[in-house]
Amino acid sequence: MQLYTKILIGMLVGVVLGLLIGPNSSILPQDSVHLASSVQVYDAPNGKPSPSLNGFKTASIVSERPDWIEVSFQFSSADLMRIKTAGVTLTNSNGQPVSPGDELSGWVADTQPQVRRYAGIGQTLVESTVWIGQLFLAMIKMVVVPLVFFSLVVGIASLGDVRKLGRMGGRTLGFFMMTTVMALSIGVGLANLIKPGTMLSDADRDTLLASYSDGASNSVANAAEAPSFADQIVGIVPSNPIGALAGGDMLQVIFFAMMLGIALTFLKDDRADLVVDVFDRLNDAMVMLVHIAMKLAPVGVGALLFKVVGNTGLSVLMALGVYAVVVLSGLLAHMFITYGLTVRIATSLSFLAFLGAIKEALVMAFSTSSSSATLPVTKGCCEDNLNVSAETTSFVLPLGATVNMDGTALYQGVAAIFIAQIYGMDLSMADQVTIVVSATLASVGAAGVPGAGMITLAMVLTAIGVPTEGLALILGVDRILDMFRTATNVVGDSTATVLMASLEGEKLRIMSDAEDADNPNKGFEGRLDHGQQSVDAD
Ligand code: ASP
Repeated sequence: MQLYTKILIGMLVGVVLGLLIGPNSSILPQDSVHLASSVQVYDAPNGKPSPSLNGFKTASIVSERPDWIEVSFQFSSADLMRIKTAGVTLTNSNGQPVSPGDELSGWVADTQPQVRRYAGIGQTLVESTVWIGQLFLAMIKMVVVPLVFFSLVVGIASLGDVRKLGRMGGRTLGFFMMTTVMALSIGVGLANLIKPGTMLSDADRDTLLASYSDGASNSVANAAEAPSFADQIVGIVPSNPIGALAGGDMLQVIFFAMMLGIALTFLKDDRADLVVDVFDRLNDAMVMLVHIAMKLAPVGVGALLFKVVGNTGLSVLMALGVYAVVVLSGLLAHMFITYGLTVRIATSLSFLAFLGAIKEALVMAFSTSSSSATLPVTKGCCEDNLNVSAETTSFVLPLGATVNMDGTALYQGVAAIFIAQIYGMDLSMADQVTIVVSATLASVGAAGVPGAGMITLAMVLTAIGVPTEGLALILGVDRILDMFRTATNVVGDSTATVLMASLEGEKLRIMSDAEDADNPNKGFEGRLDHGQQSVDAD
């Protein structure tokens, strides 16, 4: 069975299990509750407050009365410390001081969304499988920085011509800019046409604001730390390249690798060639590591999706359905109009065949919600399935994964207008232009990691004077929409790559899976199975 098919099965299993036996399952008993920090615990229904039992985030349900739930709290050492600091000594049913592991019960008013039921077993299942997805992600992420570094140094050094680099750089950035503005025009246009914000009921709005306000204020706090635009430009040059590599600052790594590649080109002698050869071989080793990590992909993506789907309740999807549909149709339109036409006109490839050639990257983007973590797979797909040269992929893709996020920009456009509509604000033409400009910058500033677009969305809201607390309105479905916008981001980067390759006169072609399997140096099929130590292309 092909790797891609195995990954699809893993995804499906993750989604189905997430719905069936995740924390929000409708089959499992909803025997536990999440408690918002404002929830007050009482000693009996309508009884006296028990302040020392406040502050627990979760509890299990013991019994229920109309409007009241009896819950039991299990004490951890941290809980005991918290209570001790408040100067209270709690005793258990035997009159002994409470020790870790003991349980005490109390009553809470049954108010949604401050008290939210979930399936305890589902939560335990998510918590005990979460490491599988994390392990897979770590294996892939481990390769990202060295792969970008080695491949870019080799790519630039083998270009042999700094003018070609300048030309490709200019075109790539120009294309990124054009497609981002196009994405935003589609998003802003659809949001104005369909007006999803006017379709949310007041009750749903209040529930969303109350349930997700904690998460929203985290995003705003993170956004406040974002540096200014000028600082970002200066920050591209690393004062300590090892620090840039160690910290995984992608733009700094790209800049240093490019400068090192250019310097090696200027040296133009055998010893410089030797350095490039060593980097080239290390790059091959990184590619092989990606293939080894991808063996874990079917189980890894299954575990990642189990967690995401299990933690997202269907009710949130219902409440935000129209908003989600506007974002998704915008992404689809952008994909087929902007990228479809670009691929069709600029290359000899059919768009569907092109999507088929990058399918492993698509499922990776979808299940990891990270264009950075997907980068090694995107690179492999473009080189091995579309025959793009490593020089082109190693320049265009890392740059794209860092600054080109059309899916993110489109979503930010829709989200900003959606939130403004809910707050009953009329957006003028000038406001709409401000959204396009600020979301372009915000998408460039967003890192290729899960949820980054939501953090920089705070910038867009501030620019048009919409309260940033409004982020709470969309937080519930953000992780799900992130999967789709990341997949769009990755298609955008791959489109830019084939466009640049074809402008440089490269001969692109689709490699079939059968060809992949026959050739251990190509594609995601068979490279390890052939037991081949070498990944030298041709
Ligand atoms: N997760 C997205 C990416 O990695 C960024 C975002 O929109 O949050 O491309």
